[in-house]
Amino acid sequence: MELINLIHKELPQIQCGRCDTPGCKQYAQAIVDGDPHDRCVPGGEKTLKNLNTILKKNIKKVDIEYGPTIKEQKVSIIEEECIGCKKCIDACPVDAIVGSANMMHSIINDICTGCELCIEPCPVDCIEIVSTSTKSIKKARDASQYFFDLKESLSSDRKRSKLKNFSDENLNISKTINTQITNRNIDKSKNLKNMQIHIAQKDLKSIHELTDDAVNDLIEKKSD
Ligand code: SF4
Ligand code: SF4
Ligand code: SF4
Repeated sequence: MELINLIHKELPQIQCGRCDTPGCKQYAQAIVDGDPHDRCVPGGEKTLKNLNTILKKNIKKVDIEYGPTIKEQKVSIIEEECIGCKKCIDACPVDAIVGSANMMHSIINDICTGCELCIEPCPVDCIEIVSTSTKSIKKARDASQYFFDLKESLSSDRKRSKLKNFSDENLNISKTINTQITNRNIDKSKNLKNMQIHIAQKDLKSIHELTDDAVNDLIEKKSD
């Protein structure tokens, strides 16, 4: 087997980009090109040990500058709070999120690797981490390179035609989502207000370096 494939096989396939490359395949290539092989913090000591064996090297510790690590987890969207802004879709490296503008979004559980990349961009903080079984996360991570490559390399037209192969599966997913959309009871003005508060909290803290208590005081005064 080619060196890049041997290395790639040992990486955890979370496609999280923490190693400073877009995904696992690119990190395998970077290692072949001479980058240190201690940057996959999610893979931890086990991945490092296996890479040491393949490369006949002896790096002792993963470089936690590239951390934090990731558990056996997926994410879930709190439906009543989602405002349909689509920011999470752009952030997901494996296209594990479906939804249309202004509509509720949902996670495709079988594809989500738990990489956490969708959490930070969500303006209303409605994406939460849920722990999962080893079996369930393995299935998603084993398939992740395929979905990562699909998102990276195909134009939307070619992608659409390729996805037709999954039409039965897609139909079932959309049926479930449509039912969820019909059944949900969304309070848009409350969610928009939550979004404004969330943005204000981020701005006030980062720009003006205020404490949490000072930010909350200001927000409470403003909404009186
Ligand atoms: S799991 Fe994340 S950190 Fe590890 S190689 Fe893949 S993309 Fe890089
Ligand atoms: S849904 Fe979120 S956590 Fe899951 S793979 Fe996509 S970006 Fe990562
Ligand atoms: S980023 Fe958050 S609010 Fe926006 S569509 Fe995704 S889950 Fe919904």
